[in-house]
Amino acid sequence: MATTTQAGVTSAHAGEMKKHKMLIGGKWVEPSTGNWFESVNPYTAKPWALIPRGASEDINRAVAAAKKAFYDPAWRNMSATARGHLLRKLADLIAGEAERLGQIETTDNGKLIAEMGGQVKYIPQWFHYFGGLADKIEGRVIPIDKPGVFNFTREEPVGVVAAITPWNSPLLLATWKLAPALAAGNTVVWKPSEFASVSALEFGELFERAGFPPGVVNIVAGFGTEVGETLVTHKDVAKVAFTGGDKTGEHVYSMAARGLKRVTLELGGKSANIVFDDAELDEAVKGAISGIFAATGQTCIAGSRLLLHRPIYDQFVEKLLAMARTAKMGNPIDPNTQVGPITTQPQYQKVLDYIRIAKEEGATCQLGGGPAKRPECGNGWFVEPTIFTGVKPNMRIAQEEVFGPVLSIIPFDDEEEATRIANDSMYGLSAGVWTTSIRRALMMSERLEAGTVWVNTYRAVSYMSPFGGYKRSGIGRESGMEAIREYLQTKSVWIDTVGNAPNPFIMRMGGQG
Ligand code: NDP
Repeated sequence: MATTTQAGVTSAHAGEMKKHKMLIGGKWVEPSTGNWFESVNPYTAKPWALIPRGASEDINRAVAAAKKAFYDPAWRNMSATARGHLLRKLADLIAGEAERLGQIETTDNGKLIAEMGGQVKYIPQWFHYFGGLADKIEGRVIPIDKPGVFNFTREEPVGVVAAITPWNSPLLLATWKLAPALAAGNTVVWKPSEFASVSALEFGELFERAGFPPGVVNIVAGFGTEVGETLVTHKDVAKVAFTGGDKTGEHVYSMAARGLKRVTLELGGKSANIVFDDAELDEAVKGAISGIFAATGQTCIAGSRLLLHRPIYDQFVEKLLAMARTAKMGNPIDPNTQVGPITTQPQYQKVLDYIRIAKEEGATCQLGGGPAKRPECGNGWFVEPTIFTGVKPNMRIAQEEVFGPVLSIIPFDDEEEATRIANDSMYGLSAGVWTTSIRRALMMSERLEAGTVWVNTYRAVSYMSPFGGYKRSGIGRESGMEAIREYLQTKSVWIDTVGNAPNPFIMRMGGQG
């Protein structure tokens, strides 16, 4: 017999798929369409859960609930300290559910459990950090240049925030939006990717358990072109916080612009990982592997362009190939697996298309170069870890985001050339520099056009450090103190303290009392 959990998930008979509901106004509801779609496990290529197919009507209800909650005294009059307490309680609940949530996300998007385990255990830190920040959002008293006037600023929430996340790290990337948005006192409607909604819908239950008032967080699943667009263009949405590809980001930006909405965009990348001849080569090899094969290359910060200093080029490529050949592919739920499947069938096809394009462009395939047919890969969408040499900086494989385990290697002669090649990109999300010279490290970190530069490490993030892109990699910052400002607006308050009204026919400017 079917049972209904607190999350509103109807657990059907054994062997049947879970049929999920959406969170609107504190209630778990069925989609207005009455339709569900299947979420597919990328390792088995078989459906494993049913996702409610939301429609405009559901977004309208969710935004109305978020707007109501924004003005409701239960949230609006809650002290910032109490808000922070709720966020920290949520953090503790997530920590308690980390293993379960990690397994759900691994099943849904194929991300390694070895990485998910650490990721979901780390996610609470964002809620602790921003929970701690909630009651430290302070305005300023300004020593204004006029007598008899007291001027101060207030930092206020913007209103209803639309949070839109991609399929590669739904919980982490939603956390980067929800933690500062809620700490600042906003309310949220979250639309996860159609390809990875299950962990988001399960996550929703924790907001209820933590004690957030109904409607403060709403989750509507469905398709980007349907619910995503309705959400972005909804007149009562004040701010759009989006993570996804740059083309979708551009479209979202233009839709939001028509409503003059605030926008944060975290978009794609084509990051350069640069190894100099004075680097500790074995460490740099691990950094190059982590840059492109971690998360099967399905990460915005993938170091998909490896720039090698000519004196160490041959030696480095040899070491890299040797380590890449040992990569253990297979079921992402196995903690020993190092390279998992591609999350979606269209993305699998896209990665294979780019491999073909690279070959047609004249790049030399040194490793992989096609689907992985290993027995441990089952029926999943696996692509062999692929390494190209002979890549020219202007080739498509060196310019466009593949979002898969495909590395392009490009040689360089000196710092100037490395900088030129690295910056010759429409993206600017991150970069890596491998050197033992402090002079080089500082010079390169200054010259590289990227929102994050790692020196002698790669793919490190923290709740404390701002993250975001230069150029087409995005607008605004997530994490760190910078992030909370993205969810606040400043009000300047003027109080006359003497009652001596100056000339009402002219503006009250400096020197006019
Ligand atoms: P997409 O841009 O295709 O989708 C991102 C989100 O936007 C999804 O929820 C999607 O919904 C939604 N969406 C799609 N079309 C619209 C629309 N017209 N209006 C509103 N929302 C829409 O990205 P992917 O999911 O394919 O994710 C991969 C991309 O994300 C890569 O380019 C990657 O670099 C980037 N990314 C960036 C990160 C960063 O922090 N900079 C981090 C991680 C990924 P649906 O899935 O239902 O179509």
